[in-house]
Amino acid sequence: MSNRRLVYLDNNATTRVAPEVVEAMLPCLTEHWGNPSSAYSLASEPARLIEEARERVAGLIGANPRNIVFTSCGTESNNAAIQGALLANPTKRHVITTAVEHSANIKFGRHLEKRGYEVTYLPVDLDGAIDLCDLQAALRPDTAIVSIMWANNETGVVFPVEELAAICRSHGVLFHSDAVQVAGKLPIDVKGFGIDFLSLSAHKLRAPKGVGMLYVGSGVPFQPYIIGGGQERGLRGGTENVANIVAFGRAAELALSHLNDENTRVRALRDNLENGIFKTIKGSVRNGGSEPRLPNTTNIGFDGVEAEAALLLLDREGICASSGSACTTGSIEPSHVLAAMNVPLSRSKGSLRFSLGIENTGEDVDLLLEKLPPIIERLRDASPEALGQAGEPLAALD
Ligand SMILES: *Cc1c(COP(=O)(O)O)cnc(C)c1O
Repeated sequence: MSNRRLVYLDNNATTRVAPEVVEAMLPCLTEHWGNPSSAYSLASEPARLIEEARERVAGLIGANPRNIVFTSCGTESNNAAIQGALLANPTKRHVITTAVEHSANIKFGRHLEKRGYEVTYLPVDLDGAIDLCDLQAALRPDTAIVSIMWANNETGVVFPVEELAAICRSHGVLFHSDAVQVAGKLPIDVKGFGIDFLSLSAHKLRAPKGVGMLYVGSGVPFQPYIIGGGQERGLRGGTENVANIVAFGRAAELALSHLNDENTRVRALRDNLENGIFKTIKGSVRNGGSEPRLPNTTNIGFDGVEAEAALLLLDREGICASSGSACTTGSIEPSHVLAAMNVPLSRSKGSLRFSLGIENTGEDVDLLLEKLPPIIERLRDASPEALGQAGEPLAALD
């Protein structure tokens, strides 16, 4: 494995930390290790570095730095936005989200329902799109917050966040968007779009795992989720993860500088990958509409194949892909995203997600297009439906 070339096509699950990011964070572990809240000079450099990172992250989303709250991850940011809005509006007990959110929202919604809140999960169509009229119809006087992702991590489908935010605003309801998959892939302008809360996660944009941020708009009612010291202007307790925050800041800068590359070169690689698969593998269908969607993601269903078996065989060739969200891989439950899109079970079971990044090259795509067709063919020959004709048991594959 070690001397073989790794073809990493799972950038929506996590990304490799950029060398520039490692370089930026290392001094925080070796030299600037003071507690940023302390009064002596050892603390002043870490404190300054955090503020510099805050400016850089704010720059990525068109925000004022004082509206950035650093958290431990995207999951915390999503939970904090929803719970914070509920605590700040105790008479409102209704939340609206969608059926295709990350499990950070779906499971938090279930948790809220057990605590007596009402949660509406907006449906999507076969393309993975939501209908703005469904949001209009779901809004109630006791709706505290609407939380809708900007782009879906499994399909790459992009939601019309500007329109969604405007509808919420006109009803006086807070709007949160999980933009974890959007940062560095599409331009983000929180202020221009009238968004109240926005979540990011650093490890999806070439920084380490374990740091995220929540944008909280000026004057937006919010109660902290993690309560402790007065860090993050009292909005998120806990001694700051200085090295990771600094890494996040540097990664945000890099992401902004690569935005164009993502939308030209990476998009073309994704399109080549997708078209190459459609051309060489019969019975392959894209899950989700073609536009608008992220430039780096495609999700393709292969009839008569078990996705997990395909992933195993791809892994043997040094190719990393995914059968949906990494959080549910390992369980045999079909993707809740594809189920919400009414993708037939036979296809969703055989669906693979390929998510590219700026480190991918044309050679990566070529290798996938060389290795995948025989893998799919082999699995189809071995599938129970095909057994009658081929007569070859699955065990004979090795
Ligand atoms: C990865 C991801 C998250 C969770 O972020 P973590 O930092 O891993 O908690 C949330 N939402 C989306 C859309 C994601 O892709």
